[in-house]
Amino acid sequence: MNFELTEEQKMARDMARDFAEKEIKPVARELDREAKFPAEIVKKMAELGMFGVYVPTEYGGAGMDVVSYALMVEEISRACAGTGVIMSAHTSLVVDPILKYGTEEQKKKYLPLLASGKALGAHGMTEPEAGTDIAGIKTKAVKDGNEWVINGRKIFITNGREAGIYLIFAKTDEELGHKGLSAFIVERDTPGFSIGKIEHKLGIRASSTSELIFEDMRVPDENMLGERGKGFYIALDAYDGGRIGIAAQAVGIAQAAFEESIAYAKERKQFGRPIAEFQAIQWKIADMAMLIEAARLLYLKAAFLKDRGENYVVASAYAKLFASDVAMRVTREAIQVHGGYGYTEDFDAERHYRDAKITEIYEGTSEAHRLTIARAFLRGK
Ligand SMILES: Cc1cc2nc3c(=O)[nH]c(=O)nc-3n(C[C@H](O)[C@H](O)[C@H](O)COP(=O)(O)OP(=O)(O)OC[C@H]3O[C@@H](n4cnc5c(N)ncnc54)[C@H](O)[C@@H]3O)c2cc1C
Repeated sequence: MNFELTEEQKMARDMARDFAEKEIKPVARELDREAKFPAEIVKKMAELGMFGVYVPTEYGGAGMDVVSYALMVEEISRACAGTGVIMSAHTSLVVDPILKYGTEEQKKKYLPLLASGKALGAHGMTEPEAGTDIAGIKTKAVKDGNEWVINGRKIFITNGREAGIYLIFAKTDEELGHKGLSAFIVERDTPGFSIGKIEHKLGIRASSTSELIFEDMRVPDENMLGERGKGFYIALDAYDGGRIGIAAQAVGIAQAAFEESIAYAKERKQFGRPIAEFQAIQWKIADMAMLIEAARLLYLKAAFLKDRGENYVVASAYAKLFASDVAMRVTREAIQVHGGYGYTEDFDAERHYRDAKITEIYEGTSEAHRLTIARAFLRGK
């Protein structure tokens, strides 16, 4: 048992922290207020290798590990959770499945573009009538010669507006239920593909969330990812890894709220002394510290197992479920520590609270994670 990060992992974390402090934190409030996609920041993150952290160097990545990736997502999210999910959705939901299920040609063609950040990735599964129940998607792909003709639409797609490469899920064999789903790599300029409604959101406002529309969109057969009918499993696999990124995002949000609570508690005076001297505030600080540490250990364990090629399905469900709950609890208490000021835009506490909520919803809701965990135990892990 060894709780020490490697030198490389520490370097990755410190580099991301330094970058986030200098480049993201000063503008995070503005990005949130204006719902502005951080194009310049994303470009710089790409130059630092943050869009291909654990992609092997032969495909243009940084060749690091999943632990380093998760630590970096935490640090970026500590400054701006919207920027954190831009990186996380790109990596866990697009890069990872191509790395795992892509043919050599697909990997050579798409991974260098994604890992260098020349193209951002977006993952299109959710539809108006299919969220948790992904087998219920209606988007259809019909074979025509050596092409697939895709019709349908997706909603709530992170990076949808800015991406260059999309992983799109469609029904290729409707009668087969979840075994009738297939995954396709779609390039942005494909005729018949367009971007629809852009959502106005409660939090993570620096990231875009949009509708994708497919009207007789033709995708070559060679762009199917994995085998026909394996889309459901490819997606579930991607979400297992995605939970690590979202758990790290949640920890980053909580960590920021925690640090700001300490600073405020030491500075704010009531009854002639800093509120940090009141036991009620000290207990909040203690609980925050403990919860964040536990959540961080859970995501690191899941990332460690993924790096070792071991089963991490339950570990990543624990990590995401617990970390999202911690993010909600810590950010709520952070507002309480800040009192009335915490409820205003003058402090970041309210932004963290709004940002935290999404971590209980996307890449599987908290309810869905409880199902995953319970099923694993009821079936015997
Ligand atoms: C900001 C944002 C970004 C997103 N990014 C992406 C993206 O990049 N790509 C993508 O494909 N999707 C994305 N999503 C979609 C997201 O993954 C879904 O919103 C999520 O999976 C929940 O689906 P739903 O919204 O349809 O809720 P529903 O599935 O309708 O769930 C509603 C409620 O019912 C509960 N529920 C549903 N089924 C069960 C059950 N069997 N047992 C118990 N409770 C249940 C849920 O837990 C929830 O509380 C994003 C969503 C948002 C808001």
